[in-house]
Amino acid sequence: MFLLNNLPLPTNMECRKGCAACCIYPSISTPLPGLPNGKPSMMPCPHLNDDKLCSLFGKPERPAVCSGFKPEEWMCGSSETDAATNFKWLLKEKTGVIELKAH
Ligand code: SF4
Ligand code: SF4
Repeated sequence: MFLLNNLPLPTNMECRKGCAACCIYPSISTPLPGLPNGKPSMMPCPHLNDDKLCSLFGKPERPAVCSGFKPEEWMCGSSETDAATNFKWLLKEKTGVIELKAH
């Protein structure tokens, strides 16, 4: 398993609105509203809206693991396609499981 921790690293990168790759490819094992056991890898989070934005953004029920997650160049690349490619590579190389996890 490869853990995408909420690393307290300085990052200048802004999240690309409407990308949502990190809301699709990694698994989340902590509860999400409506998903008490989290979600598996490759499952688009049901809290993505039609614009592929988080419908829980700014709300207290948004999981801490999501609120603390920060974009990083190595993972997000410069496009949604880059991010999807990077996550698929991680899935293939890292025993098929990548997980968003808080410290
Ligand atoms: S993969 Fe990166 S750019 Fe895309 S939504 Fe997640 S944090 Fe934002
Ligand atoms: S709750 Fe929001 S940020 Fe977290 S995975 Fe779902 S859509 Fe993404």
